[in-house]
Amino acid sequence: MIPANLISKKRDGQNLTQVEIDSFFNGYLSEAVTEAQMSAMLMAIYFNGMNEDETFSLVDVMLNSGRVLEFPQSNRYIGDKHSTGGIGDKVSLILAPIVAAAGIKIPMIAGRGLGFTGGTIDKLESIPGFDVSPDLDLFKKWVEKSGYAIMSQSNEICPADKKIYDLRSKTGTVSSIPLICGSIMSKKIAEGISGLVLDIKIGNGTFMKSQEEAFELGSWMEKIGKAFNIRTEVTYTNMDQPLGRFAGLSCEIMESIECLKGNGPDDLMTVTLELGAKLLLQSGSVTSRSDAIDLQTEIINSGRGLKSFEQSVETQGGRLDEFLSETKPKHEVLIYHEKPGIIINMDTESIGWSLVELGCVMKNNNETLDHTAGMEFLKKTGDEIDHNEPICRIFCSNEKKLDMVSKSLSSAIMVGEDYHGNNSIIY
Ligand code: URA
Repeated sequence: MIPANLISKKRDGQNLTQVEIDSFFNGYLSEAVTEAQMSAMLMAIYFNGMNEDETFSLVDVMLNSGRVLEFPQSNRYIGDKHSTGGIGDKVSLILAPIVAAAGIKIPMIAGRGLGFTGGTIDKLESIPGFDVSPDLDLFKKWVEKSGYAIMSQSNEICPADKKIYDLRSKTGTVSSIPLICGSIMSKKIAEGISGLVLDIKIGNGTFMKSQEEAFELGSWMEKIGKAFNIRTEVTYTNMDQPLGRFAGLSCEIMESIECLKGNGPDDLMTVTLELGAKLLLQSGSVTSRSDAIDLQTEIINSGRGLKSFEQSVETQGGRLDEFLSETKPKHEVLIYHEKPGIIINMDTESIGWSLVELGCVMKNNNETLDHTAGMEFLKKTGDEIDHNEPICRIFCSNEKKLDMVSKSLSSAIMVGEDYHGNNSIIY
């Protein structure tokens, strides 16, 4: 295999064979293909796409780069939920403990921040001691014990996604349908699950900006799920503004805990309960959507959801008491708008890039994240703002970064006189 020839072939719009995809992607893992060559290939795929055979070959090679989990002894339904990514999207952190408390087993493989979107793994690492890289046998024990566990791609499971994911994030090649399919579906198939609920985000704060693109991605995901014998259901949800009240790292863990105590904001809880309901229905634990919503509400109200979260954090080595007593961010600033009015638009991608600047997502390899960094959205789209009323609070441990971000953030939130938009969250 000559890497440059395969890059040129894809660059010129030709299709790669299964053997070529196999040798190029495995070559990247064995270092026969360099990071520069893989970056060029990703960009060629970004511009020219992949046909069905190529996309399936990509999923296959990424899946087979590592082990596949099996749960032969389990008499429980094994399922999962995954999102295509957004700002303030902490649904997995709330849904997993609730659904696990209802008896479903969730072996969740999640990612770090990708491009301008936040990552479940980075958020969980703000809990001191929380282990996101166990070996697979230990991970399976955790799933058996707590009902769910969350880990990152590793050298043992989905190593191809681990390496390519970071590179896509650094090279502006994330929002390519075949690359998203390869990344998400290789992780989910490797989990050994029977059912999957996908949250495909649509809007200015995610990779699929239009409904058409999102529906196309959804139909690819369904096709791949079917081919690999995973019952795959897609829900399309809105990402034209951050989800919930907070976006960042430890602040999203705090908000998830509040949701499990029954104090979650409406938009976030609507998405969580809807996706959770789909998984419960798939598993056969309930027979109607309304029963599924009632069951999840009961799990929250009885404290079983929070207990499930606490048990899982403890099992994964996390020290929640320490996390809860940790000091607040060193610096914070309130963002105002010069005129009163109504929030008519939030440029959510730009808010995401501001979070990257604050230290919530790695821009380069091995960068240290600022787990105290984040934003609180005191107002959302459609809300009125009065004189001297702050729109948003931003916080982190670096005053210079805070200053820089506060300047760009005010222009990302547009205030006008009339708002006629539609704030519905589920499509
Ligand atoms: N989540 C993933 O795991 N991969 C993507 O490409 C996008 C979202």
